[in-house]
Amino acid sequence: MAGEGVGFFEEARVAGKILLVVCGFDGFCENNRTTPPPIWDDMKLHWEPITLDLKTTFRVAHGASDQRHNVLVHLDEGVGEAAAVPYYGETQAGIIEYLRSVPDLGDDPFDMDAILARRPPGSRAGRAAIDEALHDLWGKRLGQPLYKLFGLRPNRLPLTSFTIGMDEPAVMAEQAKASGYPILKVKLGSGRDEDILAAIRHVTDAQLRVDANAGWTREQALQLIPRLAGYGLEFIEQPLVAEDVEGYFWLKEKLRTLKVTVPIFADESARTSRDVAKLAGAIDGVVVKLMKSEGIREALRMIHAARAHEMQVMVSCMVESSVGVTAAAHLAPLCDYADLDGPLLIRNDPYRGLRYEGATLTLPDAPGLGVERRWKI
Ligand code: MG
Repeated sequence: MAGEGVGFFEEARVAGKILLVVCGFDGFCENNRTTPPPIWDDMKLHWEPITLDLKTTFRVAHGASDQRHNVLVHLDEGVGEAAAVPYYGETQAGIIEYLRSVPDLGDDPFDMDAILARRPPGSRAGRAAIDEALHDLWGKRLGQPLYKLFGLRPNRLPLTSFTIGMDEPAVMAEQAKASGYPILKVKLGSGRDEDILAAIRHVTDAQLRVDANAGWTREQALQLIPRLAGYGLEFIEQPLVAEDVEGYFWLKEKLRTLKVTVPIFADESARTSRDVAKLAGAIDGVVVKLMKSEGIREALRMIHAARAHEMQVMVSCMVESSVGVTAAAHLAPLCDYADLDGPLLIRNDPYRGLRYEGATLTLPDAPGLGVERRWKI
């Protein structure tokens, strides 16, 4: 194509876009490259607020809600979701204000670490959504689903649990029975925790995990855990307040003395891979959520850090639509447990993505996250 001593322009079509590839003489460009990088426009960031209606009031130790006000974030054709979790101090307005402060992110979605480093400090959820949208865009430009780009098998997902929010013991038992799910995650921290587990165990043989959502003091945890362990729990999530890292070492020693072996997992205490390292030796597993780790990139590091310290891993979500939950699900083949019931808790999911047959999860195989819009909001 290149005539000797003649410069040329070559037009190429990549991923549905017309690219103008500018080359020098004799097919050689600067640095002796025969194929110069394509010239993209800067990636465009935009967003839309969404309101998710919950099927039932969702109560945890931090509070209760009937709706969640999240934000969908678009980076060119990539999409991510920022979940406004009240107990992390996030609001829809705060996330949008954060997104307004984001500078140009450049033109090369493959320069992932540099792009993510351009995110200003601020809203964790906003930062997470940019990371998700970037991963979606990355997969779409390469024409492959994320799990494939990570080298993972889509048929290796753990079954998901279904969450029973805090309520009266009889109401929670009724919900546990009606759900029909083989794995239930029971929210505790209400002061009636043993009554709740007794009521639920009375009506179901399902596997039970419990989540105290930082609702116990050290002494309460030490009193309750040996008693609750008698109900055959898979593990206990976040018994202590988020900042009490020393408390986990204290609790581990006390439970060892009492010969109580129920595994302890950290959720609120483990936001990043550095937190995982700090908790090594004190806990048995970590809960990975994209809204804590600020996206997929750091979530992967958390998983690897946990494995390096011989910890188990559960991938989980906030109250999120199929966008955020499908993004997390692409990491599920690396995890021992899944708690990805967000789309099951809401009435008006704007996207379809991760599919559910009971507790069995199937990843979509379209490029990127693989999510597809159901309707315009
Ligand atoms: Mg939790």
